[in-house]
Amino acid sequence: MSNAKASVLLIYTGGTIGMKEDPSDQTLRPFDFRSLMQEVPELRKFAIDIHSCTFDPLIDSSDIEPGMWKKLAEMIAQNYDAYDGFVVLHGTDTMAYSASALSFMLSGLSKPVIFTGSQLPIGRPRTDGKENLISSVEIAGSREADGSATVPEVCIFFNDLLLRGNRSTKIDAGGFEAFRSPNCPPLAEAGIEINYNRDVILRPSGKPFGVHTELDTAVSILKVHPGITERVVEDILLGRRTRAIILETFGCGNAPSRDWFLDIVRESNARGKILFNVTQCLRGAVNMDLYATGRALKDAGVLSGGDMTTESALAKLFVLMGQSDDNEYVKAHLEESLMGEISL
Ligand code: ASP
Repeated sequence: MSNAKASVLLIYTGGTIGMKEDPSDQTLRPFDFRSLMQEVPELRKFAIDIHSCTFDPLIDSSDIEPGMWKKLAEMIAQNYDAYDGFVVLHGTDTMAYSASALSFMLSGLSKPVIFTGSQLPIGRPRTDGKENLISSVEIAGSREADGSATVPEVCIFFNDLLLRGNRSTKIDAGGFEAFRSPNCPPLAEAGIEINYNRDVILRPSGKPFGVHTELDTAVSILKVHPGITERVVEDILLGRRTRAIILETFGCGNAPSRDWFLDIVRESNARGKILFNVTQCLRGAVNMDLYATGRALKDAGVLSGGDMTTESALAKLFVLMGQSDDNEYVKAHLEESLMGEISL
């Protein structure tokens, strides 16, 4: 293993971790990243070279747009050869969406890209930001005995757990345990040491590193619920500009079995739209062979998202649709595991 110090690039996009209270109205607003480095002098003690760059403007992650994912992917690509790993400081609200998107946009990844943030600003007493940031930097700089990265994946580190990015979801608006990946074990747990779960961590595919920055966002999400109306289902499933629809269904992939509902699903499929089924449940998977209501969806042309999160399904569609105008191409890859996002 080379004795050279590991190097990590910290990319600050905004979010609570780097926010300060504006004394004029007591709201939290992003502040200059240089202050963040002052707040965490511990970072300088690592045997890791840390450089940083920031988004301009800094954003609350509720304002994240696919164009910013593109900017982030390009920032990583431009610096890919110069660093051993990357830490992305990001607001928690949409972190699972961004981590999912980057996991599909960065192909042939052999280095860690660790998203983290915090529930309390880093300058506040009891902040979770310091711990999250320090451990993320350590993970991003961690290498195996042969010099390869310990975690060559896009991940979220939060409250002692390292989670696969495209398996993660925000589960708590206020608690420090804000993220979980219910269908995938943590890739590492931080205690006195950081214990890596090497059986779960993906190894690099061996393909050359590249970025997919072309995204097609013509996707809608329909969350089924008791009382949903024909008009609403029609608007979403037959929308002229929509290429794909994620159906967020009950339990293991079930939806209303009324004729009008299934007729619209069939019509949507006949118009060539991509229909992708994910469950509203936090844990478990879509299985459209279990109940007649699920089977009816499958027969109407709906594809199974298995145990994927909605965030991951959305990102996967954006990237696959960006790669090709041919919906058959997208459908052929949707049910495959591209980046460990689905259990097969
Ligand atoms: N609204 C903030 C954001 O997502 C919340 C946070 O960072 O936790 O940017």
